[in-house]
Amino acid sequence: MTQTGGLMEIKARIAAAEAAAGRAAGSVKLIAVSKIQPADRVEAVLAEGHRLFGENYVQESAAKWPAWRERFPGCEVHMIGPLQTNKAKQAVELFETIHTLDRPSLAERLARLAQARGATPSVFVQINTGEEPQKAGVLPGMADEFVAAVRMMDLPLEGLMCIPPDGEDPAPHFAMLARIAERNGLAGLSMGMSSDFETAIAHGATHVRVGSAIFGSRAPKA
Ligand SMILES: *Cc1c(COP(=O)(O)O)cnc(C)c1O
Repeated sequence: MTQTGGLMEIKARIAAAEAAAGRAAGSVKLIAVSKIQPADRVEAVLAEGHRLFGENYVQESAAKWPAWRERFPGCEVHMIGPLQTNKAKQAVELFETIHTLDRPSLAERLARLAQARGATPSVFVQINTGEEPQKAGVLPGMADEFVAAVRMMDLPLEGLMCIPPDGEDPAPHFAMLARIAERNGLAGLSMGMSSDFETAIAHGATHVRVGSAIFGSRAPKA
């Protein structure tokens, strides 16, 4: 099965990138991004023992993951796509971690849900490092203030996340994210995808989000 070769190969490349950067083996978590992949490809990776996945859509995740969690105990599913405030309630029930906290209204909603439930997913703040108008994320100049506000709300803040602009060298964006995290005392860095996860690891990524390099290319979302 080519898709299972995909997982082993990516794990080996992560281990090599950790070593090349002088980082401890196992210091980078691999989030296998399973959005809009055929079920058999995801099940092959689950059968290989992988348990950490990333999804972009609340509805799609609600349809897939409850059954997989029963069949494959120990799964952790992270939300890595934009989150509408009106889907926050569903999201806190579906995901262990949300990587795309990007605005005060969503933080307030998550904080209220956390109080009501007594538990909440951990969060990453998404930073729009390229300052792209069409892209989600807090602008770099607003990052410190937003991080402070999230901390005031007692949300379990793990770190920062970014998606560098298409067609640009991602390295300066990863470096910027690492600087913002460091000056804010944040340990988590969610950065790096299929095409650039090794560069991200060289810049300190703690979570890489790899989809097509594990599962194969995705059909366009219907
Ligand atoms: C889809 C997606 C990924 C995975 O992308 P690949 O190029 O398939 O590795 C990673 N991060 C985010 C935010 C995504 O939306």
